Order: sequence, then C-alpha cells, then structure tokens
Amino acid sequence: MSSRKSDPRLALLVDGIVRLSRGDLSSRMEPSPARDDVDAVITGINLLAEELQLVHQQFEKRVESRTAMLNQAHLDMRRMAMTDALTGLANRVALVERIEAALAAASAGTAPPALLLLDLDSFKNINDRFGHSAGDRVLTEVAQRLQGVVRGSDVVARLGGDEFAVLVSQATMEIALQVANRVMEVLDQSFHLDEFSVYSRASIGIRLADQGASAESLVLEADTAMYEAKRLGRSTIKVFEPVMLYDRQLRTLMASELRDAINNEELVLHYQPVVSLTDGRILGVEVLVRWNHPTRGLIFPDSFIPLAEEIGAILELDRWVMAAALSQYERWRDELDLAPDFQLRLNLSAVELQQLDLVDYVRGVLKNHRIPPVNLVLEITETALVTGAEVETYSLLSLKNLGVCIEIDDFGTGYSSISYLRRLPVDMVKVDRSLIAELTDGSWQADFITAILQLIRAAGLDAVFEGIETAEQARKLTEMGCLSGQGYYFSKPLTLDAITSMLKTNQHLPAA
Ligand code: C2E
Ligand code: CA
Ligand code: CA
Repeated sequence: MSSRKSDPRLALLVDGIVRLSRGDLSSRMEPSPARDDVDAVITGINLLAEELQLVHQQFEKRVESRTAMLNQAHLDMRRMAMTDALTGLANRVALVERIEAALAAASAGTAPPALLLLDLDSFKNINDRFGHSAGDRVLTEVAQRLQGVVRGSDVVARLGGDEFAVLVSQATMEIALQVANRVMEVLDQSFHLDEFSVYSRASIGIRLADQGASAESLVLEADTAMYEAKRLGRSTIKVFEPVMLYDRQLRTLMASELRDAINNEELVLHYQPVVSLTDGRILGVEVLVRWNHPTRGLIFPDSFIPLAEEIGAILELDRWVMAAALSQYERWRDELDLAPDFQLRLNLSAVELQQLDLVDYVRGVLKNHRIPPVNLVLEITETALVTGAEVETYSLLSLKNLGVCIEIDDFGTGYSSISYLRRLPVDMVKVDRSLIAELTDGSWQADFITAILQLIRAAGLDAVFEGIETAEQARKLTEMGCLSGQGYYFSKPLTLDAITSMLKTNQHLPAA
C-alpha cells in the first residue's frame, strides 16, 4: 500500500486532470514503460483529452463562422439601408452621412464640399409613354453616366424618383461648376428605348458649403437652387443665392393665396380676338385668365399657371375658367348678334387630359349654357400631347366624339412630328409665335413657314398663327395662304367690357 501511495505517477495524474479541467486541453501525460493499470488510466485520459480538444476545435470553428456570417449580414443590412436598390447608388441616408463627414473635415481645415442636386426634366413623360420598366432603365443609365463624371472621392446618390445628388468633396465653385457641366454633357446624349431615342436632361442646383453649414441647410439650399433652375426652364444650372430662399417663401405664400383666389372670385377673364386674315372678321376669342390680386394687382398667367399646376390647383382653375367663359358666351349670344360659327377658345392644362371625368364635365357645362360643342375649341399645348399616354388619347377621342374642336397650341416648340399629330384626334394647330417672330421680306423664315403650313394641311388640319404684331407679318402670312391669326397687331387681350363693345359693333379688325 505504502509503495502505491508513493507512486509518483499518481501525483502526475492528479496534476494532469487539474490542468485539463482548467481548460488546457492540449496537456498530455506521459505513460511509464510499466504499462500497468495506472498507465492504462493515463492513456485513457490522454485519449479523452484528444477527443475533447477535437470537439472544442470544431465548436470554436463553428462559432467563428457564425460570427463571420452575422457580421456579414450586419454589413449587408447596413449597405442595403444605405443603398438605392434600383441603381446601387448611395441613398439619402448615406448621402447625409457623407455630407456630415465632409463638413466635419472642412471645419478641421480641408476645402469645403459642394452639393449638386439634379432633377430630370422630362422623366415623367418617359414613364408615361414607355412604361415604368423603361423608366427604370433610364434611371439606371443616368446613375452610370453620373458615376462616370465624378472623382473617386465624390459621392453620387439617388434621392428617390428622378432626383439625384452629387457630393463633390474638397471643392471650389469652379470645380463644382465643372462637374455640373460634365453632368449636362453626359445627359445630352440620348437614351435608347427599343427603337426610340429619348432625352432626359436635368436641372441642377449647386451649393458650395459655407463655414459652419449643416447637412440639413446644405441640402435645403441646393434644393432651392435646383427648384429655381427648374422654374427657369429645362436643363439649367443654378448656383444658390440667399434671395432664392425668399422667393421660395413667397411662392409658398402665393400658393395658399391662389387656392383662395379661385373661391374668392379673384380670377378674371380677358379675351383676345382671333381674326380672319383676309377680311379682319372676328372668328372667335381666346379666353386668357388673369389674377386680380388684392394687394399685388393684376398677375399674368405665366406667373401663376405653373404654380397652379405644381400645387394641383390647375384642375379647379381650368374648370372655373370653362364655366365662367361659357356662361359669358351664353350672355353674348342672347344679347349680341354673334355669328353661328363664333368660337370660344379655352386653354386646357395637360393634367386635365388625365381626368376621366373631363368629358362629362365639358358636356355638362355646354348643356347648362345650351352651347353647341362645335363652338368650343380646346387649346392644348404640344408638349402636353407628346406623352401619348392611353388615358390622354382616350380623353381626346371622347372630346372629339362630343363634337368639341381640339387644337394643338404652341406648335413648333415641342418635338412632335406631323405624322404623330396625324394619329391624334385633333382639328387645328396653332403655330407658336416664336416661329413668326422674324418673319420679314426675304427672311429664311418665310420658306420655313410655307413648308410647315404645307405639312399641316397635308395632315388634314387647319392652321392658326399667333403673335402677329406687325402689318408686314400679317401680309406675309396672308400671301402664304394662312387664313386666321391673332396678335397685338389686331388686338391685345381685352377686358370683358372692351371685347363686348367690340363684338357689339361687329367691328372688323385691320385686315392684312
Ligand atoms: P398661350 O395659350 O400661348 O396664349 C397666348 C399668349 O400670348 C397670351 O399671354 C397673350 O396675351 C400673348 N399674346 C397674344 N398676342 C401676342 C402678340 O402679338 N405678341 C406677344 N408677344 N404675345 C401675344 P397670356 O395671357 O399671358 O397667357 C400666357 C399663357 O398662359 C397662355 O399662353 C396659356 O398657355 C396660359 N393660360 C392662359 N389662360 C389659361 C387658362 O385659363 N388655363 C390654362 N391652363 N392656361 C392658361
Ligand atoms: Ca392658347
Ligand atoms: Ca400659344
């Protein structure tokens, strides 16, 4: 017993087990050459330790790979939360984060960042005409083109819809303008959708960060500049100026006033005669709306129609104009000796054509005032018609079936071809005033207008010329065979009283 007690291997054994139980799974014990029971136990424990170590290693590996997976998932989720799914560009959240980083760097002494916000000008038309998946293709390509014109340190983001942003790091105004011009250049190339080439140019607002700017103010101010660029017309670059913020506030104020104006009877109608070029007879009148503002006086439609469209008040406005004008027509017909073919011409906004109840409304107002549909001409701008969406064609067809005349207004300012117009149910074309602006003897414009007139006639349509300001223009147009026109040469738009007395005396305006 005593010899067993003193067996040194037992102490070794106890020691080894303690080490294993502490987690040192690599520790092993050396069996003695005796190969007796004690050695058998030592060998058994060594094998067990081996087993444990293996299980432990596998466990560790699994934990490791799980952790890696979780980290990856976390990264993916973060990337997804920071990425625009369609284009793979940074999204608004990511952009704001990068702006904040750039502003922080600037306050530590680097050059400030500049933010470019851009909005595609005619994207809605592409979506309407070619469908959403075509629209998506255009957006994806825009994203690629934008990425092609920035430096690696810049950020291109899509903020939703057709709005994009470029954050130019460490910029000067010169660099920011260079980037904006390069963006314009790449968007100047057409996009190919099946057999069509479409254009999607942009309006760009630029804001170079001031010392101490916040991400929020930078975005707001770039957006204000972009809004201004958009307002000024297509594919314009605008650098932020503080006065733009004031203008924007004013427009917000005007927007709420405009909503009330329609109900408060602040809108008034003026009327411009359309005359026969050969004898000066008044063939009809175009109704032109004005806003008689209580403090700012008479406001012209170019200053509030786009605003009405923007705030969705245009439908109400156009319908108010239609009801008021037709009611006036009824009074004239009862009181004056109007020719049976006297035409009342109304301007109709593009969005009206998207309203399924438009035709019922028109039919109802005509019936209320007992006015034959042929006496009504609806002028619709060319740019409104080129979208060619189904609902618009449906509206046009229904109006035409009702017997109303449809006229394309501002013809020559859009991209529509005569062959496209031929497919639309329209009756007349009003040639835009810009086309005759320089019509004088011997000018190249005479040949151009003759050609346009031939095309219009070949499509079976009638032409009216607007913006005739001089006797010379009137004479030239008459020589070319144009039949009717309107413009300051004959008469400016007139108040109700003035046009009424003109119609009453059955006055003929100066013929060519
Ligand atoms: P528009 O349909 O092209 O109307 C003709 C515009 O040209 C009118 O401007 C008219 O005053 C102006 N004009 C007429 N003759 C001449 C001329 O000889 N020379 C020049 N330089 N200009 C001439 P206005 O009244 O300011 O109307 C501007 C635009 O506002 C109209 O352009 C039309 O698109 C829109 N608009 C007017 N009334 C309405 C309306 O009730 N509803 C809608 N949706 N739009 C309207
Ligand atoms: Ca018009
Ligand atoms: Ca016009």
